[in-house]
Amino acid sequence: MAVPRYWREIPARYNLIGKKCTVCGRVYFPPRPICPVCRRKSAGKMVDYKLKGTGTVVSYTVIHSPPPHFEGEEPYVMALIKMDEGPHLIGEIVDCEEDEIKIGMRVKATFRRIMDDGEKGAIYYGYKFVKE
Ligand code: ZN
Repeated sequence: MAVPRYWREIPARYNLIGKKCTVCGRVYFPPRPICPVCRRKSAGKMVDYKLKGTGTVVSYTVIHSPPPHFEGEEPYVMALIKMDEGPHLIGEIVDCEEDEIKIGMRVKATFRRIMDDGEKGAIYYGYKFVKE
């Protein structure tokens, strides 16, 4: 039976491990098998690259009506973060007052519980962002 994509990606998600193109130096997260910029020259030259986890808030939104399994956490703030190495990540900003959050604010990734699946008793973890 095929392992769902989500589960295969978990080690990379947990550790913020992306791929770096050894030709142009661009960093990709989630990891990509081929650099889309210089794919002809760089086939096979993508190497694992661990993001430092630091970046800058590009935009954010306050969620008042969460999707299923996220109820009880509202309101919460989801932000688009430009990581220092270049990739953009979407994540929740935690441990911060809503009015403290600004575009351009420095943040760093931290490992947190993302959601509970009450029925199955499963708990999902991943990265969230806190003020640097
Ligand atoms: Zn490249």
